[in-house]
Amino acid sequence: MKLPNYVAGQWREGAGEGEPLIDPVTGDELARITSQGIDLKSALEFARSQGGPALRQLSYAQRAEMLAKMAEVLAANRDEYFRLSLLNLGATQADASFDVDGAIYTMKYYAKIGRTLAEGKMLKEGAVIPLSKTNAFVAQHFLPPSKGAAVFINAFNFPAWGFCEKAAPALLSGVPIVVKPASTTAWLAHRMVEDVVKADILPRGAISLICGGARDLLDHVREEDIVSFTGSAETAARIRSQANVLRRSVRVNVEADSINSAILGPDCAPGTELFDLLAKEVVREMTLKAGQKCTTIRRVLVPRQQLKALGDAISARLSTIKVGNPRNAEVKMGPVVNKVQQSSCQEGLKKLKEECSVVFGGDGPMQLIDADPQKSAFVPLTLLACENGLAAKHVHDVEVFGPVATLVAYDGLEDLIAIARRGLGSLVASLFSNDSAFIQDILLGTGDLHGRILVVDSTVSSQYTGHGNVVPSCLHGGPGRAGGGEELAGLRALLLYHRRFVVQGPTASISRLAESCSDASLLYT
Ligand code: NAP
Repeated sequence: MKLPNYVAGQWREGAGEGEPLIDPVTGDELARITSQGIDLKSALEFARSQGGPALRQLSYAQRAEMLAKMAEVLAANRDEYFRLSLLNLGATQADASFDVDGAIYTMKYYAKIGRTLAEGKMLKEGAVIPLSKTNAFVAQHFLPPSKGAAVFINAFNFPAWGFCEKAAPALLSGVPIVVKPASTTAWLAHRMVEDVVKADILPRGAISLICGGARDLLDHVREEDIVSFTGSAETAARIRSQANVLRRSVRVNVEADSINSAILGPDCAPGTELFDLLAKEVVREMTLKAGQKCTTIRRVLVPRQQLKALGDAISARLSTIKVGNPRNAEVKMGPVVNKVQQSSCQEGLKKLKEECSVVFGGDGPMQLIDADPQKSAFVPLTLLACENGLAAKHVHDVEVFGPVATLVAYDGLEDLIAIARRGLGSLVASLFSNDSAFIQDILLGTGDLHGRILVVDSTVSSQYTGHGNVVPSCLHGGPGRAGGGEELAGLRALLLYHRRFVVQGPTASISRLAESCSDASLLYT
């Protein structure tokens, strides 16, 4: 079976044999994909010329209703998405839920908050600015939706959520979307797009799907298009520096890989609630989606005197995790997504071991439930320890995209801040402490290099959302190595799909244009 592309309002099979999609547990081939022979230039033109105008005829509130219908369709097919997550990603129920339910929730969330933008067709920003003595000549900033297409180049690990978290704000803005899921796990996104197309919710050209390589896609993006990329820092650099993208100053949003950390405060001794919560959180992060989340904790920064105790506490929990075929209900952790990722994890692990000792797991034979190690793509749950964080290099640089975390010892506040900053820009750090002065120092010392910092003290110990949970109301993205992009943050996400311009002119013309606008201050409520 070859998964077809959906371009110019039609399903089209690519040419040639295509690339296989593989079940990472059994090694069986599931389907094939290829975008060869698909005219990507025309696909973009169709989106811009047909999908865009049809979307922008509608108001924000009408488009929010469309998102609500999309969410309904996706929710109705949830079981099928869980089935495909199991087949193509080796996902446990919890893994599939994180991706699929996260996707549906995000779509519903934007449908709900999108209604607040009401009947406007564009946004006006700020007050009228007087530019003459009589106030006859004034200025006003406006934010019209871009008249291009939004191109989503997505990572393999969140085929459902990665699609919805980008699609919702773009469509709400009135910008047609061209979705290019990562080839290895494209089936789930393909099925979601198929369901949305079948339900006939969106105007023709508002949604397109490229199944297979991006090929010459970026050669055809234009000034008014937006490229939203999620994936490795290496690919991000290639996309950013692509000649056509540079020449036309195409807007590029990048969500890349990130060495995230969790910090144990000096006040959290073994036996305290926060010590246990951190140990639990680290295990959850290592096992959920087999550690294949962009937000997963990679480094656990711990006061030197607690290094051994925390290692023991995490190891005790890790030893209870059953790894294997997620079709078996006992299994709590599945494989990584394919043999290529398995090898990449093994290579990364080798590098980390040059600087770290193994506390749990490592190279030994894996006890797999109902899975053949030869055919499957499992990576052993591994906890490492690094005694000299400031001297280490790989620990702060090598993202092992699997169930691996490293404990890093710190001595004092200054040391801790310096080590945390060695991530060179991260999506998220979490901080477990009851010491408010310490919390303040860390926030001030590291906030500029993080997209999000989760603080957990005893007052929120039963209420916090979790280190790896990206909620649509809050910012997702991080500076530096994490790509420098910004996503979500409620309606602020719409800024990526709008362009700011200022009109200087007679009050009457400006008032007339302003009448068709919703207020941009709503983006911040
Ligand atoms: P990847 O290899 O960089 O691929 C990402 C996407 O880029 C895929 O769709 C890929 O297509 C496409 N691509 C590759 N080369 C391209 C080129 N020259 N031009 C245009 N597109 C190109 O990343 P991945 O292995 O799928 O994802 C894992 C990484 O993503 C991890 O490092 C993780 O940290 C990061 N990630 C970050 C976030 C975040 O929000 N910050 C979220 C999830 C994942 P093909 O698959 O067809 O090659």
